[in-house]
Amino acid sequence: MTASESPAVPAPGIRLPSAPPLALLLDVDGPVASPLTRDVKPDIILDLVALAAAGIPVIFNTGRSDAFIREQVMEPMIAAGIPAGTVIHAICEKGAVWFSYTSAGPGPVHVDRELAVPAAYGDDIRRLVAENYAAHMFFDETKRAMVSVEQHIDVPSADYLAEQKLFDAEAMELMVRHGLGVVRLDHHVPNSDDEVDYRVDPTIISTDIESVRLGKDLGASRAVELLAAQGITPQAWRTVGDSRTDYAMADWLHHNDHPVKHVDVRPADGVPSKPYPVLTAVDLGLEATVIHDDAGGAFLRAWREALGI
Ligand SMILES: [Mg+2]
Repeated sequence: MTASESPAVPAPGIRLPSAPPLALLLDVDGPVASPLTRDVKPDIILDLVALAAAGIPVIFNTGRSDAFIREQVMEPMIAAGIPAGTVIHAICEKGAVWFSYTSAGPGPVHVDRELAVPAAYGDDIRRLVAENYAAHMFFDETKRAMVSVEQHIDVPSADYLAEQKLFDAEAMELMVRHGLGVVRLDHHVPNSDDEVDYRVDPTIISTDIESVRLGKDLGASRAVELLAAQGITPQAWRTVGDSRTDYAMADWLHHNDHPVKHVDVRPADGVPSKPYPVLTAVDLGLEATVIHDDAGGAFLRAWREALGI
């Protein structure tokens, strides 16, 4: 534990539920769920419950569906014992979908329909996967706004990544055939009105096809709104992710004057220069080889210790 990673701890006896010393905004695949098994280690579930029970806002900001969060995170947390009155927020599909849950289960699921990929395009992608790519990947039927196609767990990563390139190219072509402007990384294919409305975003385990208005920054703004609706203004934020796109959480918070540090649990892509502190497992005194949910779990444990929870 370094000095730079010690959140301000309230003086003993002072209870400020409306201004907790920290709020956690967590990407799920990578820092919380293993990218190999796709599930969450029991120790991480226990740490999440302990932090939330102590009044530290725990908010997930993921590209995953609400169904995935219910199964992999909410149900194990409820089984571990969320105290009455504790609310967990989950922002799913990169800000297009969100819901909150308590020990009693999930509240209503909200969907911003304006941010959804056209259903006819989604149907064509489902057919494309079934006909040409079913050996390597599957169509995620739980998404409400995005279209996501994911690697089968038993397919070797290198095989998947090679096949993913072919799939991504076909997905781009299909966008053009639907008259939709699309971008993949630095490859722009605007529609006839010279607009780009959608993006194809490949990750190490999936390809997401989504409105360009979705992103971890949208999720961060929703997180601040959800806490504000509860009368909660955190003194500081920690954002945690394993991808370059996850920095958008901290970018947005910093830009909007919320004190933030970002934790990168897979810094192999290089740590960009940012106007806020960026932490990795090395800042906890761990080896640089500690990544993904091993690093995410270590940070959760470090925050528990620093806060005396
Ligand atoms: Mg991730």
